[in-house]
Amino acid sequence: MTRSISILGATGSVGASTLDLIRRNRDQWRVVALTANSSAGELGELAREFDAEIAVVGDEGCLGDLRDAVGNHCEAAGGRQALCEAAARPADITVAAIVGCAGLGPVMAAIERGGTVALANKEALVSAGEVMTDAVAKHGATLLPVDSEHNAIFQCLAGNRIEDVAKITLTASGGPFREWSQAQLDAATPAQAVKHPNWDMGAKISVDSATMMNKGLEFIEAHHLFPVGLDRLGIVVHPQSVIHSMVEYRDGSTLAQLGPSDMRVPIASCLAYPQRMDTPMPPLDLADIGQLTFFAPDEELFPATRVAREAVQAGGAAPAVLNAANEVAVAAFLAGKLAFTRIAVVVEQTLAQCTPPAPSSLDDVLAVDAEARSCAERMLETA
Ligand code: NAD
Ligand code: MG
Repeated sequence: MTRSISILGATGSVGASTLDLIRRNRDQWRVVALTANSSAGELGELAREFDAEIAVVGDEGCLGDLRDAVGNHCEAAGGRQALCEAAARPADITVAAIVGCAGLGPVMAAIERGGTVALANKEALVSAGEVMTDAVAKHGATLLPVDSEHNAIFQCLAGNRIEDVAKITLTASGGPFREWSQAQLDAATPAQAVKHPNWDMGAKISVDSATMMNKGLEFIEAHHLFPVGLDRLGIVVHPQSVIHSMVEYRDGSTLAQLGPSDMRVPIASCLAYPQRMDTPMPPLDLADIGQLTFFAPDEELFPATRVAREAVQAGGAAPAVLNAANEVAVAAFLAGKLAFTRIAVVVEQTLAQCTPPAPSSLDDVLAVDAEARSCAERMLETA
């Protein structure tokens, strides 16, 4: 039986991992929509290879190139609205793998169609929070977590009652700078920050892993996906990235999910859900790994998890402001315009300055996002 799939952010790291799994099981899938921001040539090639129904670039200026690349093999479209329309086309599963709040509109379009959404795009959930989870409930959509930690938690919760959960612990690799001093962190370069020890990922999430803001965003993501209460959510640093997260139950049992640090494992678990499918990864060799170690996060050197926790505790617009400010600060760092350790400072200052009312619709969230971005841009001038 073939199933249909759309991939939002098909040219990125998660998009490529998803397409790798589809390529290995080509006869089982029909590709509906593939999207990218501006890499029209690459997207066009993928659309032809996978015989997609439609290819869409978010940047309308790239539509001409996309048309040239797809020829008459499939439909081509461009612009923000076209992304949402493509996401709203019927598909058995939509993989949401756009980076940043830019993915929010398309994700909401897929949710409003009542579909199954495999969510990698954590920034969308962090910004929209209840606006998204309410839409999931209202439209009878299904959200499957792709993020490795949340996928692990989802697997550890299967067959159990959420009321019986005593604690959910997100594991964090600690990123490339885990053992660095304050002085070294102050001088960290973009090239050093994007070189993650365990995972091969897009630039933005790699910087987030280095600052630990990735774990802060994931803490907020977990709060929305698994409503056990903020006091039952914790973070532990586990440099080997073998345990992807854990759920402790009230009887003292802790369930953990282990696996290779390759996104194809959690993506496969979403694509095949509730069944399982093959992946090309070699099985874990625990004797070879030898040791699994764990540390409490150092929030003096890496304040981002504290800033994120305070934002979700404050609630309202704060998580959307946090996310927007972080996107602006990370982009400035990658462009060589902001020091690594100023990223969290810009985020915290933006949170203090920008306090819009709580958003209650998609448009509200997008307005908060825009306001927080301009505020963060102003912070950059003095950072
Ligand atoms: P990436 O930068 O490699 O790819 C991003 C994709 O989104 C690309 O296809 C790009 O064309 C598209 N895109 C970027 N900006 C856009 C815009 N403004 N409008 C439309 N499309 C746009 O990113 P990634 O590492 O694949 O991460 C994607 C998402 O998945 C992020 O939210 C990230 O946090 C999450 N995630 C990634 C990993 C990983 O291993 N890479 C793991 C867990 C979660
Ligand atoms: Mg993760």
